[in-house]
Amino acid sequence: MQLSSFGHKFSAESGIVTLMEDLGAALNDNPDILFMGGGNPARIEALEVLFKERLDNILSDKDARHSMLGVYQSPQGDSELLDYVAKLLSQQHGWDITAKNIAISNGSQAAFFVLFNLFAGLQTDGSRKQIQLPLAPEYLGYGDSGLTEPFFTATKPTIELLDQQQFKYHVDFNELEVNTDSAALCVSRPTNPTGNVLTDSEIEKLDALAQNQDIPLIIDGAYGTPFPNIIFEQASPHWNDNTILVLSLSKLGLPGARTGFVVAREEIINAYTRANTILNLACGNLGTALGKSLFQDGEILRCGNQIVKPFYQSRLDHAVTTCQRELAGLPYRIHKPEGAIFLWLWFEGLPINSQTLYEQLKNQGLLVVPGEPFFVGINNDEKRAWPHHKECIRVSYAQPPEVIEAGFKLIASTVKQAFN
Ligand code: PLP
Repeated sequence: MQLSSFGHKFSAESGIVTLMEDLGAALNDNPDILFMGGGNPARIEALEVLFKERLDNILSDKDARHSMLGVYQSPQGDSELLDYVAKLLSQQHGWDITAKNIAISNGSQAAFFVLFNLFAGLQTDGSRKQIQLPLAPEYLGYGDSGLTEPFFTATKPTIELLDQQQFKYHVDFNELEVNTDSAALCVSRPTNPTGNVLTDSEIEKLDALAQNQDIPLIIDGAYGTPFPNIIFEQASPHWNDNTILVLSLSKLGLPGARTGFVVAREEIINAYTRANTILNLACGNLGTALGKSLFQDGEILRCGNQIVKPFYQSRLDHAVTTCQRELAGLPYRIHKPEGAIFLWLWFEGLPINSQTLYEQLKNQGLLVVPGEPFFVGINNDEKRAWPHHKECIRVSYAQPPEVIEAGFKLIASTVKQAFN
């Protein structure tokens, strides 16, 4: 098979492909494996009942059923849903937003591919620009999404050590340099993999840096506000004309609907919409149909605030207690869990790298995600001088408590053996 350079790059192994292969095998083919790996949301009974009821209503209405199955969606997305989303964002956060500021995507992963490549890579004047990740580690799904290389730069964080074996990453503004090579800044808030929530002051400073350079600040709100709102700390929502906010229905319990939203100034929405149409023709209608039903009566907020957030808060409390009990005596730290659905564990001085730890755990029937692929944009020289990047793993706490307990027992025995 003679592949193009695009073919080589996009058919090669990558962190996100391995993660999704593991996830698919665990959740579809081999349900006995202990799954603390990929970012699949938890199964929540109350949501399943609600989604079924709403889908039944759609299916029993002839016109609604036809518009879900029998028509291509408009390029920017269904106008009724765009209106609902705009209304929700302006009412909840006071942002000056109309339907013209929003486009629908086939999941937010696809939106990032389009957005990143709209701004970064080869420029019309022959120069090259990169997506800058101000706080490594970042979501591994961004890595490998560039049509050209090098596509990302990232800045190592400062590390604040906290009580109770915790720590927190902060943006190192002394090292972060935004210049003419930067195409856009991008952060996930809450952050996958760490559960970090960038502080209001960090967001304000990033916003100012982006505005000074006249480049967008992209905020990935897959776990953020106003939905699914898996945030356990006080954090002010942020959007302005220079911000691109990307939202998703996935972590609310609808990853199968493949529906995301891009919120940006009109010029960016228009560019995004055209590119998305070339790639996808139109977005899927399932998420739009369900979304319209959930936005129309404000149920989307109740789902996040009263079902999803308390559910994960309780799973988090259990996961932290279990982790502290099982790993007691080992040199471990947990990133302060401020949001999302993961614990990010750091084993300082780990004699094996996290990839090996991942493989050893997988051989014993436990899936976690090794830390290395999350350091997107950190170059090899920086990595060599910074063992931290291979001393961390990400574990999801979305699965039932018995899975988490068995999982932490295996992590404890395997890490103990590695240190012996
Ligand atoms: N952004 C973050 C931070 C994520 O964790 C994920 C998925 O895990 C995505 C984006 C992509 O999600 P989706 O394409 O399902 O909207």
